[in-house]
Amino acid sequence: MTSYEATRAWADARDAADPLRSFRDEFLIPPHHGADSLYFCGNSLGLQPKAVRAAINDELDQWGTEAVEGHFRGPLPWLTYHETVREHLAEVVGARPDEVVAMNTLGVNLHLMMVSFYRPTAQRPAILIEAGAFPTDRYAVESQIRFHGFDPATALIEVEPDSEGGGISQATIERVLAEHGARIALVMLPGIQYRTGQAFDLKAIVDAAHARGCVVGFDLAHAVGNLPLQLHDSGADFAIWCSYKYLNSGPGAVGGAFVHQRHGKADLPRFAGWWGHDRATRFRMGPQFVPTPGADGWQLSNPPILALAPMRISLDIFHRAGMDRLVAKSRDLTSYLEWLVHTRLPETLDVVTPSDPTQRGAQLSIRVRAGRDAGRELFEYLMEHGIVGDWREPDVIRISPTPLYNRFSDCLGFTDAVVAWRDR
Ligand SMILES: *Cc1c(COP(=O)(O)O)cnc(C)c1O
Repeated sequence: MTSYEATRAWADARDAADPLRSFRDEFLIPPHHGADSLYFCGNSLGLQPKAVRAAINDELDQWGTEAVEGHFRGPLPWLTYHETVREHLAEVVGARPDEVVAMNTLGVNLHLMMVSFYRPTAQRPAILIEAGAFPTDRYAVESQIRFHGFDPATALIEVEPDSEGGGISQATIERVLAEHGARIALVMLPGIQYRTGQAFDLKAIVDAAHARGCVVGFDLAHAVGNLPLQLHDSGADFAIWCSYKYLNSGPGAVGGAFVHQRHGKADLPRFAGWWGHDRATRFRMGPQFVPTPGADGWQLSNPPILALAPMRISLDIFHRAGMDRLVAKSRDLTSYLEWLVHTRLPETLDVVTPSDPTQRGAQLSIRVRAGRDAGRELFEYLMEHGIVGDWREPDVIRISPTPLYNRFSDCLGFTDAVVAWRDR
């Protein structure tokens, strides 16, 4: 059991002893009145790696000097550019390289995956999601249900939270599967619930859902680059994510998709495009679509090189830091933040996120005891003082110390500010 202290000297000493501390220097930290802000919003938009600017400039230069030949020439020919992120992306999500692809954005990938993996029948028309799902996920599944001619009133099943903080236990998921499983075509749950910060046990969900004959997909928007994922071993059928949150790949970054190896060569229905065609024969430009094996076979278009450049840089950072070390530091940082809140602010704040470190990532979702208006006031006070979290309706402040660029002293600074607000 680590013993924590709520002093500057203790936090600074922990930061000085942190084996990952130099990674912070690879990021641009947004300034606030001439000093570094305390940035806790990597769950929403990760910070910019300093090397990104040069990586984008390299591609602009390649375009300027090589033009169309840039597809074939130079250190990173555009024709295979998306493959430069494949190995490191696979490492981050615990997949085999041919199971992952960087393409499109999360919402687009969710629809493309459902084209292949949501195959409703009259007996089995339903999709299971969590109540209070992120809007895009709800809109996407509802529109897919309607698109197939079914009615969301009966074909959209939402698992309700069973804990005060809004958490959903595995037992409740299994109870819903026992009751409705025979009618469920697709189970579509998050790796981490965005509002509560709860992490789900992907393998346990897959096992329970497969036992009922359901297909399983995960939205890993808040999990990728945050949790120690083992997607291949989880047995999930597919997963999708965005890359601008913990993956630090920039606003509107290219998203990602995972398709389990057992589906990689299967003749699944899909919406096809030329970039998903067998690489060996793509440029024969024939009329017959032959999918390239693996997740690459779901690509539609040639990828946006200027948007992939930041991801290449960012994933290189993840590769050098290593998910194991990042997760170890993340658990320590977030546990420290939680300890500070419980110790210094027990009458002021409640933590909604599970306290079990294996049931959460970096994020703590925090509520102000005095209610929503006080919560909103605290949030604005923090922003004015250069402490950046985010606000999620109706009453949650999300604070996410991320292991690549946050420090123990940042967590202390957050609670210093809340104490000052409380005592003002
Ligand atoms: C961030 C997030 C999204 C955003 O989707 P985009 O298509 O990238 O805009 C969707 N779902 C969840 C759960 C998210 O956290």
